[in-house]
Amino acid sequence: MSQEELRDLVNRTKKQLEHLKALGVEGIQVSTATAPSIAVPPPPTAPGPVASGPVTSLFGDLAPAPVKLTKSSETFEQIHAEIGDCTRCPLHLERTHVVHTEGNRKARLMFVGEAPGADEDAQARPFVGRAGQLLTKIIEAIGMKREEVLIGNVNRCRPPGNRAPMPDEASTCKPFLLREIAVVQPEVIVVLGNTAMKNLLDTREGITRLRGNFQDYKGIKVMPTFHPAYLLRDPSKKRETWEDLKKVRDYLDSHRSSDR
Ligand code: URA
Repeated sequence: MSQEELRDLVNRTKKQLEHLKALGVEGIQVSTATAPSIAVPPPPTAPGPVASGPVTSLFGDLAPAPVKLTKSSETFEQIHAEIGDCTRCPLHLERTHVVHTEGNRKARLMFVGEAPGADEDAQARPFVGRAGQLLTKIIEAIGMKREEVLIGNVNRCRPPGNRAPMPDEASTCKPFLLREIAVVQPEVIVVLGNTAMKNLLDTREGITRLRGNFQDYKGIKVMPTFHPAYLLRDPSKKRETWEDLKKVRDYLDSHRSSDR
């Protein structure tokens, strides 16, 4: 069977299964005796993401296998050296400093924002302005210290006038954040605000819909919540943020790990 025929067969089968699924069918019997023998390429192995566990559900056969993050042995210093005096996207034109992720490199908890603002750009540190001060209070409200956690942004350069980073600017910078996440492997990532959430999770869903519900990034729990800058503008949203952070606290308390 040619590659093209195989692709066509897979697409048609997928459509048929999706149709059955939409009708409420949860599984069908598959006889291996009649299954055509098709050579399937092996799943990717380390250092890339690895598929975890056998796929048992009918629809799982054709759905993407769950991927787990592979632990990286890089150091932040290596990653930051590679970023260097970055000119990979237009945001470099107006920035003063590249603002790297900072904090505990064995952190169980990480916070990810959108991009540096004016204070962060001036001081070369994430979340040090008014929104950053509120973030510090949020961290302390769940019984942790700022130095205990990891704090970073999807984009490391300040967008002019604090506009949201463009999708291509985010996708240029994000791989470095993902490499840091693979180094530290935090147990939970709190993603702050709509733009950071969309960019980190590659989702079109909005923050109002996803906040408060754990999402997944390659086996790491991701809790979307409101951005502290938004809370400064609308303090009534602090109550929901507190509910979201309590879920994070509860998760960390019930998954005590010995090696951190
Ligand atoms: N807002 C962000 O998203 N990140 C910062 O570092 C500061 C403000």
